[in-house]
Amino acid sequence: MTPDYKIFCLVPDLPDSTELEPFVAEMQANRWYTNFGPLTRRFEREMADFLLPNNAADIAVGTFSSATTALELVLKVMNLPQNARVLLPALTFPATALSVLNAGYTPVLSDVDAASWLLSPEIAKAALQDTSFDVVVPVATFGRPIDPKAWLSFQKETGIPVVLDAAAALGVQDVEPELITVFSLHATKPFGVGEGGLVVTADADLVKRAQSLSNFGFLGTAGVVQQIGTNAKFGEYYAAVGLAQLRRWQAVTEKRRQVAAWYSDMLPDGIQRQQGHDAFIPAVLCVFCDGKARHLTEKLASHAIQTRHWYLPLLHQHPALQCVDIVGGHAENLGVANHLQHGLFGLPFHGFLTKDDVAQICAILRDGIV
Ligand SMILES: *Cc1c(COP(=O)(O)O)cnc(C)c1O
Repeated sequence: MTPDYKIFCLVPDLPDSTELEPFVAEMQANRWYTNFGPLTRRFEREMADFLLPNNAADIAVGTFSSATTALELVLKVMNLPQNARVLLPALTFPATALSVLNAGYTPVLSDVDAASWLLSPEIAKAALQDTSFDVVVPVATFGRPIDPKAWLSFQKETGIPVVLDAAAALGVQDVEPELITVFSLHATKPFGVGEGGLVVTADADLVKRAQSLSNFGFLGTAGVVQQIGTNAKFGEYYAAVGLAQLRRWQAVTEKRRQVAAWYSDMLPDGIQRQQGHDAFIPAVLCVFCDGKARHLTEKLASHAIQTRHWYLPLLHQHPALQCVDIVGGHAENLGVANHLQHGLFGLPFHGFLTKDDVAQICAILRDGIV
């Protein structure tokens, strides 16, 4: 039975029917509903302007059915060796590992940084002493942006390509054209569209090849399969929502910024946050309190306040993900991730929270922590 929550963890903030109307009308006039139609191409162009305002011509933006399929198909067109090994953090949403497995490669799990809770270039460099990998997928965990310049240096120094899983970080993650960045448009992400994913990179041909795989592997002559593909297209309905969402993005962000600021003012001491938390608006508000996550989340639940245990269990603890490899060979090497799992929990965070909601949540935490 789902408890009757008074305050929910996530509440999607998508365009209403009036905001959608002009774009849906345009689609209906075109009578073109998917297969890279005019709204999809326009959304891709507008997202390039949004992501790199003065240099949109430096990047290609391609749409997909989700960030998961976008990651999988991008990995498939990178000319990686057969049985490629892909370094990624043990603390991430399972889709990061699933896209690697679905592409036919082996995930290799690394630990995360104790302050940022991310796989850092330093951790990836140290991992090279213990193991080999052909590509690295750092994750903007909980929507905390990654430093693209540091990862570009890593890519140049090691020759190992970097694909950023910035699924939850659209709007806060800077785009580096020389890397490959993947964003999600899932309804629960800050830039919610419903379903959808974006690939962003300077390599327009790579985007084209990945989109060809999203359309059965057709390329060039219509209906001729050049490579084994699938169906992972975005579609004009979602493009219509995306175009409408872009026009209300400032307002969506402003509400989220305000809620984040209330939390920063009112969260009690003893609740640890992700490093740099005041410099970005997170996708989900995950906090850490050593050994007390269960106690605090039960207290909040008793006041009808929902929490989530993002992103736990750690990847290698999922029954279907026993096949992954781990840097150094043992789960004990994931020291920080193992420590974090005993105190991480996600608080309600979305643009519909009031100051009173946040005050109530913080008061319950303050009482519960002592
Ligand atoms: C949400 C998320 C995904 C999956 O995105 P979809 O668009 O739902 O497939 C992948 N990685 C991370 C880190 C995410 O947060």
